[in-house]
Amino acid sequence: MTNAERSFDVLVIGGGLAALRAAISARQAGASVAIATKGRLGRSGGSATTTGGYAAVLGEYETGDDIAVHAEDTLKGGARMADPELVRILVREAPERLRDLAGLGGAILMENGRYRLAPGGDHSFARTVVPVHHVGTDFTLPMAEHAQRAGCLTFELTMAVELLTDAKGVSGSVLVDLDRGGAWVAQAGTIVLATGGCGRLFALTSNPRDVTGDGYALALRAGAELRDMEFIQFYPWRCIDPFRNTRIAIQPSTFVYGGRLFNSRDERFMERYDPERLEATTRDIAARAIADQARLGLAVDGGVRLDLAALDAETFQRSNPKASAALQRQGIDYRTYPFIVAPEAHYFMGGIRIDSWGRSSVPGLFAAGEVAGGIHGGNRIGNNALPETQVFGERAGRVAATQARQDRHPPPLPGEWSDRVAALGGGPSAADEIDELRKTLQSQMWSALGPLRNRDGIDAGMAATELIESRRRGVTPVDPIELRDWVELGFMTAVARSCLSAARLREESRGAHVRLDFPAPDPAWQRTIVVRSGDDGGLDLRGVSPDEQPSVLVPSSGHESGDQ
Ligand SMILES: Cc1cc2nc3c(=O)[nH]c(=O)nc-3n(C[C@H](O)[C@H](O)[C@H](O)COP(=O)(O)OP(=O)(O)OC[C@H]3O[C@@H](n4cnc5c(N)ncnc54)[C@H](O)[C@@H]3O)c2cc1C
Repeated sequence: MTNAERSFDVLVIGGGLAALRAAISARQAGASVAIATKGRLGRSGGSATTTGGYAAVLGEYETGDDIAVHAEDTLKGGARMADPELVRILVREAPERLRDLAGLGGAILMENGRYRLAPGGDHSFARTVVPVHHVGTDFTLPMAEHAQRAGCLTFELTMAVELLTDAKGVSGSVLVDLDRGGAWVAQAGTIVLATGGCGRLFALTSNPRDVTGDGYALALRAGAELRDMEFIQFYPWRCIDPFRNTRIAIQPSTFVYGGRLFNSRDERFMERYDPERLEATTRDIAARAIADQARLGLAVDGGVRLDLAALDAETFQRSNPKASAALQRQGIDYRTYPFIVAPEAHYFMGGIRIDSWGRSSVPGLFAAGEVAGGIHGGNRIGNNALPETQVFGERAGRVAATQARQDRHPPPLPGEWSDRVAALGGGPSAADEIDELRKTLQSQMWSALGPLRNRDGIDAGMAATELIESRRRGVTPVDPIELRDWVELGFMTAVARSCLSAARLREESRGAHVRLDFPAPDPAWQRTIVVRSGDDGGLDLRGVSPDEQPSVLVPSSGHESGDQ
């Protein structure tokens, strides 16, 4: 490739729903667009595996629902820590972006000629549509096809390992070819990060293997600010027996229909955590309750026991189609099997601090989707992540196109990466060591940043993270996959440090952040923790009001979009 062929108005990093939407809207705005994803376009990240619930108030349905109610549900669910302006944009634009999604080929489940609206997920009204096959690829694959047809250049199995900046802001990114092992620099007028969350910081997670927090770490190193990193959501009912190696989660409606949970003493322990709703409680309370049973030594085989005897066959099949099909294949009777369920890491509420156009505090660097922070505050209500990808993906892509720098000069490939790539192909494999370090980090993070936290656990997690990072630095990867895993481990330790620092500072319990040593909310902490890299290699943390926006860029191309 010549330098000109490596130069793009907009470089989108990621291959999920936010990346695809950003790329399509940047292209529609006339920009040259490249998409780099370390997975496969439309087949990677949380987007490909999501069950795909999308919440939006569709005015024509006359249910009495209103975007003000959707906004209030979101702010309340987020423990009043979300940025109200970002929430206002989310609920206002979610319906239009849903129509776009359908126009791009997204297959939405219909009933009697209209979208089927489902209730749930802390929403006051039934306002959730789902994909036809209840899986994200119903949306991602048609969008990927559309993006490619529209002329977006795609680089699959291509990992961003560093963002490059100069005095004017971002200038490009170092990309590693995971197939062949080469490294190159993509010059970019603007960059949209859409790399998803960091569920893989934990061993038990709903997130696929590529969701390792790369965007948080890349942005932090480039000088951007992160926010709300202490708020991590856990899904309570991952079925770890009989489905040990496949992710099958028990659906929340199961508990409305009579699913019951028991500890090792056969006590129906939810009576203590939510006496009125019992198992039909909210996800955050259920996750904490199950984690608390383990803390008290009352776990059963790493979780708690789930009894489904009260559900009739049709109800079980309808509420849990995936589990039901898998059980039938294995010849297991759901009415008698002693299922074990446990909480799994599900979603990172925190992320890159953005303004209403997805702009970070670094000129030219945008963020959209789970990598961005501020939309969900202290806790995300169900089915709000998908509209987030579409609303903020569209905004970021459109404005990234209009603000792309035209004064592009090829930045050289930093020596560290040419050396790393040159070292591939020689020496003994480091795969086992990298794997061991990753597993140690994951198990430490469960005690430090899991559903129940305290100062001692956080301090121990920080010490372990520093040790893992120093050991990682001494490892030399010898093939492209080892290099990927090694870089990801470095990204995860950087994310861990951000989350741990914020969790240590927040001496209260609020939203998804629960400190056993500070169990109540403290009004003095109605503040957002902003993290950025400090001059000494450490992290600077400060508290700001949730709706304080990062300093907005001076547009480099003379186009100012302004809010509309
Ligand atoms: C099992 C599951 C069920 C869910 N159900 C719902 C639901 O019903 N409703 C809802 O609203 N939300 C749901 N969520 C959450 C939602 O699906 C995700 O938050 C959302 O899909 C994230 O989209 P994204 O585009 O931001 O990131 P992702 O889809 O995670 O995509 C990230 C992309 O970035 C790529 N990438 C990462 N790092 C790099 C790098 N360094 N270089 C290049 N590429 C990189 C990855 O390979 C991937 O392609 C669910 C999540 C899961 C895991």
